[in-house]
Amino acid sequence: MTEILRVENLKKSYDGFLAVNGVSFSVEQGELKALIGPNGAGKSTCFNMLMGQLKPTEGDVWFDGEKITGKLPREVWRRGVGRTFQITGTYQSMTVIENVQMALMSHHGKLFSIQPRAWKLYREEAFEFLETVSMQDQADRPCSILAYGDLKRLELAIALTHRPRLLLMDEPTAGMAPSARVELMQLVADIVRDQGVSVLFTEHDMDVVFAHAHHIMVLNRGELIADGNATEVRNNPQVQEVYLGGGTLFKEAEDA
Ligand code: ADP
Ligand code: MG
Repeated sequence: MTEILRVENLKKSYDGFLAVNGVSFSVEQGELKALIGPNGAGKSTCFNMLMGQLKPTEGDVWFDGEKITGKLPREVWRRGVGRTFQITGTYQSMTVIENVQMALMSHHGKLFSIQPRAWKLYREEAFEFLETVSMQDQADRPCSILAYGDLKRLELAIALTHRPRLLLMDEPTAGMAPSARVELMQLVADIVRDQGVSVLFTEHDMDVVFAHAHHIMVLNRGELIADGNATEVRNNPQVQEVYLGGGTLFKEAEDA
C-alpha cells in the first residue's frame, strides 16, 4: 500500500497548553481511517493543522511524499486534500446541481465566468457527481428545502468535484439521526472502495466508527493512545480506561 499522508510529532500549543502533543501517524491510499477521542482531545486541532488552517507549533505533515507543513489551506487543497465542513457550505439560493456546477467551475478555474449561459457548463459532469451520492433525483430542487442528511450528501459531492486523493471529514454526521449516520458513512465507504480515495474522519457515534473504519486512532488529551484495527483498539487497556463509564464505546461492537 502507498502512504498518502504522514504526520510526525505534531504539536499545537496555546499559551503553553498542548492541545496536540506529539502526534504521529500515517494514512494509506484507499484507507478509511477514524480519529476518535473525548471532547477536547485535540481532533479538530489536528485536522486544522493538516489542512493548513492552523500552523503547528512543532512537527511535520507530508502529503504524497511532499512536506506541506505551514502551507496555506488553498495550497494544500490544490495538492489534493479535500474537506467537508461541519457546517454545511452550500449556497441555499441555488439548486442542488447548480451548487455542484459552481464547484466544478472553481475546479476548472472558471469561477468568474458567471453568466446565464454558465449554467449549461458542467451540467453533465455535475450530474455524475450527484449520481455518486444518489442525489440525481434532487438535481433541480433548491438547496433551501433539502433535508439535513441530503445537504450532507451534497456537501460530499461538492468535495469530490476537486478530485481529492485524501478527504478530511470532521464530524461528518453531526446532527444526524443514527440511521442516517450509518447511511452516510456507508456511502463514504463505498466511495473509498470504488475510487481509491483516502478518508480520515472524526466521529462520536461508535457504531459508525466500528462498522466502517479500516483503522481507528484514539486521541486523548492531545496524545495518540491507540492506532490499529477495531479489535486492537477495543482491547487496548488505555482506550478502555479513557472510555470507562463513558458508556457506549464498545457495547454495540461487542454485541455484533
Ligand atoms: P476536539 O475536536 O477533539 O473536541 P479540539 O481540537 O477542538 O478538540 O480542542 C482541543 C483542546 O484545545 C481543547 O481543550 C480546546 O479548548 C483547546 N483549544 C482549541 N482551540 C483553541 C484556541 N484557539 N485557543 C485556546 N485553546 C484552544
Ligand atoms: Mg472537534
